[in-house]
Amino acid sequence: MALIVQKYGGTSVGSVERIQAVAQRVVQTVEAGNSVVVVVSAMGKTTDGLVKLANEISPHPNRREMDMLLSTGEQVSIALLSMALQTLGQPAISLTGAQVGIVTEAEHTRARILRIKTERLERHLKEGKVVVVAGFQGISATDDLEITTLGRGGSDTSAVAIATALQASFCEIYTDVSGILTTDPRLVPDAQLMAEITCDEMLELASLGAKVLHPRAVEIARNYGMPLVVRSSWTDEPGTWVVSPAPQVRSLEGLELVHPVDGVEFDTDQAKVSLLRVPDRPGVAARLFGEIAAQRLNVDLIIQSIHESNTNDIAFTVTKQSLKQAEAVASAILPALSTGITHPDGEAEVMVEQQIAKVAIAGAGMIGRPGVAAQMFSTLATAGVNIRMISTSEVKVSCVIDEADCDRAIAALCATFNVSKSTVSDQPSPHPTPHTLHPTPHTPHPAPHTPPVRGVALDLNQARLAIRHIPDRPGMAAELFQLLAAQQISVDMIIQSQRCRVINGITTRDIAFTVGQMDAEVACEVLKQAAPKLGCGEIVVDREIAKVSIVGSGMVHQPGTAARMFEALADHQINIQMIATSEIKVSCVVAKADGIQALQLIHAAFNLAGKPEP
Ligand code: ASP
Ligand code: MG
Repeated sequence: MALIVQKYGGTSVGSVERIQAVAQRVVQTVEAGNSVVVVVSAMGKTTDGLVKLANEISPHPNRREMDMLLSTGEQVSIALLSMALQTLGQPAISLTGAQVGIVTEAEHTRARILRIKTERLERHLKEGKVVVVAGFQGISATDDLEITTLGRGGSDTSAVAIATALQASFCEIYTDVSGILTTDPRLVPDAQLMAEITCDEMLELASLGAKVLHPRAVEIARNYGMPLVVRSSWTDEPGTWVVSPAPQVRSLEGLELVHPVDGVEFDTDQAKVSLLRVPDRPGVAARLFGEIAAQRLNVDLIIQSIHESNTNDIAFTVTKQSLKQAEAVASAILPALSTGITHPDGEAEVMVEQQIAKVAIAGAGMIGRPGVAAQMFSTLATAGVNIRMISTSEVKVSCVIDEADCDRAIAALCATFNVSKSTVSDQPSPHPTPHTLHPTPHTPHPAPHTPPVRGVALDLNQARLAIRHIPDRPGMAAELFQLLAAQQISVDMIIQSQRCRVINGITTRDIAFTVGQMDAEVACEVLKQAAPKLGCGEIVVDREIAKVSIVGSGMVHQPGTAARMFEALADHQINIQMIATSEIKVSCVVAKADGIQALQLIHAAFNLAGKPEP
């Protein structure tokens, strides 16, 4: 007999009829021989309605009272669902988060789960009852037993945490869409349902998937190896399995508070190639990485930043063994790339560096926690390590440093983030087969191989900022990003330029990054105030940008994946303003006006609509 945790979102319990339909499904699951714990959200848009009421009274309501208010929504739906089950003859009992013992930190409106008591849940299950638990809420570990909530969308997190604590066979997330799609179907009508996706891919697609599945839920699933499936509550379709590699054994204490960073990774087998002062026009990256891919060379990090002039710098890393060949390719096409352009700051050139290493911090905990990147930079600065190149993604910050600094950097980062180091794995995560582990009424069918690109995401809500002429010495990136973190501003893509400019005898570099549009103004103000003191130049903002990203664990083994993305853009004369990558993600910033077309072109270029490979 399997133990299954089912979670139903707001629309799935949006009316009496819907609640009755949910009860039917729960009863069927029980009749198939399973024990069931159900986690529910508040009915329909109840939570939004409560927030609105609060805002009519105060623009900044007290956070404790907010929790008191918002937690009522789920209390309604658990009672109704439990009644509906009992009406069908199914013994059931509803429990609030406090009654279960979902113990959280005392941070109102954004509490993280510390532990979940299982005694009462287990007792009722043993009695043959379905236990219906209120999602999104918990109780503080303090003497006052305050009601807390986990943050909007938090009932996914409740469900996965409960499944983990109970060591359930798997957790089903029932929602109003059929699963996770290859991209946003409103922008790309032929977006396809994925049969499965890894947790890491899901986290990198946070901007695409966050509405379907709370990233914190994915993080718990990954850390504890809990199989998850996202399915429609309207149909019997199989949905999308969200799979994780075999987890390390972890304590259930501090369930969610683990660390913002899961691991410190490093790779000393890296060498860097930079192309300086190549023209800023469509097709340059496509041409370069197309040639590199034609030589079957696998690139790892790629960055391209922005500059004052009409030229860009592109830098990438390859294994040390591939350096000679990569350099030859870059030098060979440099003249062709640079035709018809005048160079106010000098001729285009190729520069290589062999004695470098990559260190990275990775972890879903950095989503929504401003300051993790800044903490990495300041740790490196304190250790006297200069950062040569920075590339970030949703759940990873990678820095290229001198190889000689690598051991020191790793030791310092492991100490700061309280984790152990691991070499950067170039193996894709082992392919779990939930169906052999967990015989279920709905058997997942894992794909036979991992595709290079699983999904494509577009983010139209970002703005780009650039800080010019930052003195090139340890600690500058740390100071700048700490200023933003202090304002609770989450920074997304961060790219440090390759190009140096010597001003009054001081070598300087530019750093560009993106932030949510609503944070752009404050970010700009804060930096403008600090720039003169820190010896930096002007701050430039561009709100007319779009970020488009491809994500897939298979790209690690598929030379040319990035090139294919760049080519899709070049073929339609879309200029790439910035590039940043992680192992399983490539993101490009383009003009906002090109965003939707860029998404469509890239989705088509990877045949994600299900058409056969050409
Ligand atoms: N009801 C809460 C919200 O609307 C929690 C959830 O639905 O996941 O954010
Ligand atoms: Mg939700």
